[in-house]
Amino acid sequence: MDQNERAQVEQVFALTGGELNDQPFQAWSDASRDGAPLSFAYNYDGAPEYSDLPDRYETEYITIVSDCLFGSESDVLYQANGVRWIKVASFRSSGETECPCKQGDCDGDDDRPCPLCEAQQGEAHGYVYLGDGWCETVYRRAARRPIYRTRRDARHARRSLRAYE
Ligand SMILES: [Zn+2]
Repeated sequence: MDQNERAQVEQVFALTGGELNDQPFQAWSDASRDGAPLSFAYNYDGAPEYSDLPDRYETEYITIVSDCLFGSESDVLYQANGVRWIKVASFRSSGETECPCKQGDCDGDDDRPCPLCEAQQGEAHGYVYLGDGWCETVYRRAARRPIYRTRRDARHARRSLRAYE
């Protein structure tokens, strides 16, 4: 069932090129990081292609695809490694798209019910429907702007940060 949802998310958000990360993105909405982190199953590096954010393919961004029906995701997310992410945009989706199998674009077209649109045996393919309120929420990694006296200091700091993460 979850595997179906993942495939549906890929269709509805046009992420069929393997953009989605395999691992959930885990973070807290609160700086104290109490309790279990939030876990976002669907996420990818960068910002949506249609967004007009500068440098949207940079890993400075992470986009979370989730059901925002009851409000969009938190304004700030805190990761266990101390990295802070600031929400920069949220885009609502219609939550649906035409099933690609309708155009015969599917391997194993005889799989019924269809894992994407759930069409039963003998039924025509219809729409992939995730539901109302799905959205893409884009976060930007919060800038750390330490002041270094020399380039050597900066290099050294970068190395230790990497070791820390
Ligand atoms: Zn279908």
